[in-house]
Amino acid sequence: MRGVDKITEKNVTGAMKDVKRALLDADVNLRVVNALLKQIKARAVGADVTPGVEPGQMLVKIMHEELTKIMGSNQAPLANRTDGEPTVVLLAGLQGAGKTTAAAKLALYCLKEERSVMMIAADVYRPAAIDQLKTLGKSIEVDVFQMGTDVNPREIVRKGLQEGKTRKINTIIVDTAGRQVIDAKLMKELKDIKSVSKADETLLVVDAMTGQEAATLTRSFNDEVGITGAILTKLDGDTRGGAALSVQQVSGSPIKFIGVGEKVQKLEPFYPERMASRILG
Ligand code: GDP
Repeated sequence: MRGVDKITEKNVTGAMKDVKRALLDADVNLRVVNALLKQIKARAVGADVTPGVEPGQMLVKIMHEELTKIMGSNQAPLANRTDGEPTVVLLAGLQGAGKTTAAAKLALYCLKEERSVMMIAADVYRPAAIDQLKTLGKSIEVDVFQMGTDVNPREIVRKGLQEGKTRKINTIIVDTAGRQVIDAKLMKELKDIKSVSKADETLLVVDAMTGQEAATLTRSFNDEVGITGAILTKLDGDTRGGAALSVQQVSGSPIKFIGVGEKVQKLEPFYPERMASRILG
């Protein structure tokens, strides 16, 4: 008689250990891992085993499908208004995450989508950030609106948007201040900028190498400001990218793009299926 044709609790318990190890190795946050395993177990027990396929392999397949589903299944596009108003994209994140670089990468991506683009330099705490954005802007021929470091970021954004509207710019990307740690002042400022700009997108820029920390970071930004998605940077490193899963599971918002290098061209749309394979190793 043929062996297993339904996945049993026993099959699952054994295979779960391997899957758990893979997820933790990929730096998925432990709480996220446990929530995921519960979800997967519920789906797996009692599922039919395809003839000739080991239950363990079946479980990995189910896992892959579930991870893909959690990460949104399809590629999530960047907002694009069609009512003649500019699409406003705010970028937020911790210092060093790759926010300023991501602003320019996104600007180039929009140019390729035949949108007219402008960037606003609203990081007034790190003077070098404005110069960095200007240099990047110049390299891709995208204008950067800036008012130096003595003006309130809210005011800079308000004026920048006015200019963008006058010039009938399609997409305006706002580089906001980054901090080394999450702090209340930063959150308040970001909330203000979000409300002043009526942003269509608030994208959290997350360094994929932060691994476990990505969950906490996402929770703070999402609870306090509200995000519509994320850009996961530095995926050209050898991290398996578990942060992608944490970000998505915690915020319920999709990763929209990934950064795969320092150069402005190194931005790619995020594909959940590919990331699921990478995470499972
Ligand atoms: P910000 O402080 O968040 O604005 O971060 P920056 O944009 O200044 O980036 C910090 C550092 O990370 C810089 O050295 C960037 O060149 C680098 N960086 C940004 N994105 C990526 C990426 O996708 N891959 C790699 N390898 N480096 C990146």
